[in-house]
Parts: sequence; structure tokens; C-alpha cells
Amino acid sequence: LSVMEDNILPLTERGVSLGNKVFGAAILRKSDLSLVVAETNNELDNPLWHGEVHTLKRFYELGDKPPTKDLIFLSTHEPCTMCMSAIT
Ligand SMILES: [Zn+2]
Repeated sequence: LSVMEDNILPLTERGVSLGNKVFGAAILRKSDLSLVVAETNNELDNPLWHGEVHTLKRFYELGDKPPTKDLIFLSTHEPCTMCMSAIT
């Protein structure tokens, strides 16, 4: 919940003020639930950047990323079929 409140929500508030939707997500380490990356919907830049897919995009842009088997995907809402497919 602290990741939602402290990381996803501020990004989402800024994004919504620009005209994006409210959906956000984060990727956490399983070991201690620390944040790897958080993002939010960015459909104004690209209609594919739902919050979840935009988070995956940012994760794969990280230079030194942990193995996905060590991570948890957190979304603020039930993912749509496109996002669920991307997360899987
Ligand atoms: Zn989606």
C-alpha cells in the first residue's frame, strides 16, 4: 500500500492532470517488497501505454534489472486483456 500511495499515486495525479487515465502499476522485489519501478497510464504519448504496459516498458529500459522470477507485479486495478497478456 505504501508503494501505491507514495510512488504510483503521485505519478497518476500528474498524469491525470494532463489528461491520462488513472491506472498505475509497480514492480516489487519478492524478498523485501522494495520498489523496482512504478509507472502510470501514459496514453497521451501512446495508446498502448496502459499503466501496466507502461510499467513493463520502463522496467525493460532499466540497465541492471533483477530477474523476473524474483519480482511481483502490482497493479492498481484489474488489468485489461492486453495488459494481462503483457504481464504474463
Ligand atoms: Zn490495460
